[in-house]
Amino acid sequence: MGLRSFLEQMEAKGEVLHVKDEVSTRFEIPFIMKKFDNEGPILLFEKVKRYKTRVVANVCGTQKRICAALNTDQNELYKRLIEAWRSPQKPKIVEDGSVKETVEKPDLSKIPVLTHFEKDAGPYITSAVIYAKSIDGSVENVSVHRLQVLDKKHLAIRLVPRHLFKLWQMAKDAGKDLDVSMSIGVHPAVMLAASSPVPFGVNEFDVANVLMDNSLRLVKCERVDAYALAEAELVLEGKISTTKEVVEGTFVDITGTYDVERKQPIVEVVSITHREDYVYQALLPSGAEHRLLMGLPHEVLIWEAVSKVVPKVYAVNLSDGGSGWLHAIISIEKQLDGDGKNALLAAFAAHPSLKHAVVVDSDIDVYNVSDVEWAIATRFQASKDLIVIENVRGSTLDSSADQETGLTTKMGIDATRPLAKPREKFERAKIPASKRVERLARKLLGLRT
Ligand code: MN
Repeated sequence: MGLRSFLEQMEAKGEVLHVKDEVSTRFEIPFIMKKFDNEGPILLFEKVKRYKTRVVANVCGTQKRICAALNTDQNELYKRLIEAWRSPQKPKIVEDGSVKETVEKPDLSKIPVLTHFEKDAGPYITSAVIYAKSIDGSVENVSVHRLQVLDKKHLAIRLVPRHLFKLWQMAKDAGKDLDVSMSIGVHPAVMLAASSPVPFGVNEFDVANVLMDNSLRLVKCERVDAYALAEAELVLEGKISTTKEVVEGTFVDITGTYDVERKQPIVEVVSITHREDYVYQALLPSGAEHRLLMGLPHEVLIWEAVSKVVPKVYAVNLSDGGSGWLHAIISIEKQLDGDGKNALLAAFAAHPSLKHAVVVDSDIDVYNVSDVEWAIATRFQASKDLIVIENVRGSTLDSSADQETGLTTKMGIDATRPLAKPREKFERAKIPASKRVERLARKLLGLRT
């Protein structure tokens, strides 16, 4: 299974919007992507100026589509992910795959890479799933990194100090460059697995394989010592230099603000393989898809951690306004007053980048910001229900944090109602309705009964 079969499935459901007008990779496609950002369909740009290749966007743009890709529903999604993280399984390695239909010398100028925002340093590949292994072969890792196109054969890669960075460091210590495969145009399960916070040593392809019911297939690369997805649309084979660096950025990251310029390693692309009629997958930085892929796995971590300190967690939302990363809204069932604060502390420990968190009761819809605001307005007292933690390590993506030390201030709001007070004081008043008047209201609203 790959992106192709998922797109066919979504096509049948009417979830794909075909754009037949000619559009440019420079700002025009990103502009349209942004217009369709919220709960929008998959966009298939069929006529791309100066290129023969089609561009697909917003593939993992809604939680509903991610659930469809994983063959699950919203209630089971978190459990499904945890299960795959805890018991990854090796995918089959096959001799040949559709990604090998065309094998050619590198020329990145033939790929319709997008230039997204006004002050971005240039075209950036934003959906590449990057595989690498340690020099001794004992550790494999898959992760998503932005890649700035420098010329026909070179990219700059942003290596945040995490797993791929560690493998790169190990290669550097051994005096070698690091071989990588960069798969573009992949099944949503692979995107989600590659964005998951599993420990160093877990191969995210194995996680994706479980999410895809063992249907993931890998192929050996042509010119580098790495595996790639057999059914990817496009694979770039490359070597991350451990000696050559270049200034990377500026570039818009998840919060929708410009990330600063930094010296980052150069990747030399040594070979390119792709399906004959490959589709290039785009992903809008700071768009709903970016927020979902980064945020969703961390919602799972928060859900798990908070579940250990309160009887029940109903829902967790890393909200859009918080860029899917900095703000959490958590609905819980509490047993005692004070449980709300423990829930907040557990959430901050589970997701170190979290900056502001709100805990609410189960009658509040965590996805409805007005609802949450209502809970803060009627159930929260700042002098008693507020936690402020100063000088704590936060996200480097938060523009307001100290940019040198990364230190920030975190705030937790316990907006759950106190247990001792009369319940009615905090209850949301309802108007009783008979079936008849419900039907009448629906009719008047112009909805079908
Ligand atoms: Mn990893």
